[in-house]
Amino acid sequence: MKIYNFSAGPACLPEPVLAAAAEASKQYMRTGMSLMEMSHRSTPVVELFEETTERIKSLLAIPSNYHVLWLQGGASTQFSMVPLNLLPEGSSADYIETGAWSIKAIAECNKVGRANVIGSSKDVTFSFIPKECEQNTRSPYLHITSNNTIYGTQFKVFPKIENKDGVLVADMSSDILSKPIDVTEFGLIYAGAQKNMGPAGVTLVIIRDDLVGKNYRVLPTMLNYETHVKKDSMFNTPPVFSVFVVNETLKWLEDLGGLEAMAVINERKAGKLYSEIERNPLFRSPVNAVDCSLMNVPFVFNKEGMDDGTFLQFCDKRGLNTLKGHRSVGGFRASIYNAMPEAGVDALISAMQDYEIV
Ligand code: PMP
Repeated sequence: MKIYNFSAGPACLPEPVLAAAAEASKQYMRTGMSLMEMSHRSTPVVELFEETTERIKSLLAIPSNYHVLWLQGGASTQFSMVPLNLLPEGSSADYIETGAWSIKAIAECNKVGRANVIGSSKDVTFSFIPKECEQNTRSPYLHITSNNTIYGTQFKVFPKIENKDGVLVADMSSDILSKPIDVTEFGLIYAGAQKNMGPAGVTLVIIRDDLVGKNYRVLPTMLNYETHVKKDSMFNTPPVFSVFVVNETLKWLEDLGGLEAMAVINERKAGKLYSEIERNPLFRSPVNAVDCSLMNVPFVFNKEGMDDGTFLQFCDKRGLNTLKGHRSVGGFRASIYNAMPEAGVDALISAMQDYEIV
């Protein structure tokens, strides 16, 4: 039976990518060695990093005044690195609070300086994206979470920065590479790889060059972006195998027609799933329709008391796995990242329709 993995992350990967990873774990480029055994100083690995960086620059149309970094510590480490590197001593930065991950980013900022929460949807279980928030015109940056993995909301339009010296910073962990973006709208973008880009273990950072080396405070070497810029992400032993899988995922995206083509597919997949949630009398969406995520689709039963686990078992028997909603929302969540085949979404829709008549 074909298994469709609707996990929010680590998430499913394209089959050709998994096949290439299996091969590289045995032998990399006829070297007689597994990629996992190879030095990050060896020519094939240095070339792999260069190739991966070039590929993402081309896919996302990253201008030449931005650096691409491949770091470790997950997106969670970026919650700290962003304020440590971009927030002057004794000042505050603006944050929009749209879910559990932005709460964590805010908490880390408050350890370094002060996070000024200019918009929040917390009191309605993060069911919408706050808009028209009043920015502090002296804030060095405004931090947003572009897609809220748990609550299933997504910024469709990014806020414009009111401070001419300020920048927009985005945690794009759960929607990076799902559609084209204009990188010039941002000073810094970060994303853990394990949803749309590859396996866990590597985090992409895209940072505008004037934001590197601000040196507002003495920083631990590993937490300074400048360290990694100067050493092309090879200051310490990098996660080579994870970067390889990212490169293969980027090749797969290129073959598919790039981000424009990916966006069309993502719109179609999410569109049909939301239509079914709306049509099916058993289910409803807990989020504001205009803000609904194309990547993580939460849905709940319309009537209380139906959520006894039988729908999940029903899906599991059909190979539709990991559909349980996050404990803070309940119900179900279908994560339909780039690598989720349209056939997986169709199979879920059929299961919802069949369950309706059980
Ligand atoms: N931000 C978002 C939007 C996420 O979805 C996640 C992980 N699910 C994180 C940050 C944390 O990422 P990591 O586990 O790589 O630290």
